[in-house]
Amino acid sequence: TFIFISPVVKIPKELEKYMVLLEEDFLKEEEIREVVSEFLEECSLGSLHEKLMDEIVVAFKGLSNLEIETILALDLSSRGTIDRETIHLIIEQKQQMIRKAGILEMIPVNEGLEDIGGLENLKNWLQKKAVILKDMAKAKKFGVELPKGVLIAGVPGCGKSLNAKASAKLFEVPLLKLDMGRIMGKYVGESEENLRHAIALAEAIAPCVLWVDELEKAFAGIGGNGGGAEVTTRLFGQFLTWMQEKKSAVFVVATANDIMKLPPELMRKGRFDEIFYVKLPTREERRKIFEIHIGKRRPDDLKDINIDKLVSETEGYSGADIEGIVKGGVESAYVNKKSNVETEDIIEAIESTHSLSEVMEKEIYEMERAYKEKKFKCASDE
Ligand code: ATP
Repeated sequence: TFIFISPVVKIPKELEKYMVLLEEDFLKEEEIREVVSEFLEECSLGSLHEKLMDEIVVAFKGLSNLEIETILALDLSSRGTIDRETIHLIIEQKQQMIRKAGILEMIPVNEGLEDIGGLENLKNWLQKKAVILKDMAKAKKFGVELPKGVLIAGVPGCGKSLNAKASAKLFEVPLLKLDMGRIMGKYVGESEENLRHAIALAEAIAPCVLWVDELEKAFAGIGGNGGGAEVTTRLFGQFLTWMQEKKSAVFVVATANDIMKLPPELMRKGRFDEIFYVKLPTREERRKIFEIHIGKRRPDDLKDINIDKLVSETEGYSGADIEGIVKGGVESAYVNKKSNVETEDIIEAIESTHSLSEVMEKEIYEMERAYKEKKFKCASDE
């Protein structure tokens, strides 16, 4: 009996029928606990407090036996102890490993729901999912299904990425970004292997949010002819099957500008729990977005600024446009050596900016019409 060991599955055609494929899974939580306990015992460090041990075990998910031991040894040799601080080192090392693997990116999460102006329907929906995700064992026992994820589509610069980040903060889990561009490899079978690896990594790190950005670009050209299109079609099938059968606590947030380009299978029930579309912010939403961005930069000036006037002047502007306007207004007040930012500074910035609807009016209109027709939920509370 021959045993071949390899990090990638590449079996010559002639040998396929003689081979049995055994895939080595990532370590389970109990196994990680064992590795850590053995290390502590070997180094005569005694045992850890149960809660700390639980946190360390979760932090180590997705790493191999050797990697776990290396990190523990590194921390012990540099600080002389294993304690809560160790978790920072684990996360740092894990980020490095994920970066080295080059398929997923671990995104630092700073923004929360409070940083999003409007989009109340979507925020409420996410809050309900948070109740489930924060105590999965209890929810499962009650008969609740684990959430699969959400597809957020719509106008650029209106908070799709912001929602992906805020959901990770809300669920108190890490945020992993899957860049489909990086998945595509140049060798036969490489792309499929990359996607399999990315999914396995995300499942090992679960609970987590897996953010698939620009979904329509990833799966454009499906069903077409030629090598490239075939690979995309296979990847798409692989992704769909995973979404359909997914039992792990990987919550997928897929974002896309125009999902009309996406294959209809993706929109069928059972893949995403819900599909939301975001449109240009309403009057009330623009007010909140102005308050958030002025509040972040010049909290003391907020009370003297005429937000009503700003809101009236910005019909058709996106959230990103509004952020740009606030930045511009603050900068110009500073350059002009003023001590406060005033309404006029921001109005000037508005006048020198073209709104998104001016730039792409037709596309936005078409998108909204199509989303309404498909009966996707609107992210805003209309
Ligand atoms: P794209 O499709 O171009 O990636 P997007 O919809 O993902 O756009 P974001 O990246 O979420 O847009 O938004 C860009 C920036 O605009 C954000 O960093 C944020 O500062 C601001 N912004 C957009 N929408 C909102 C909002 N509803 N509330 C507060 N800020 C917003």
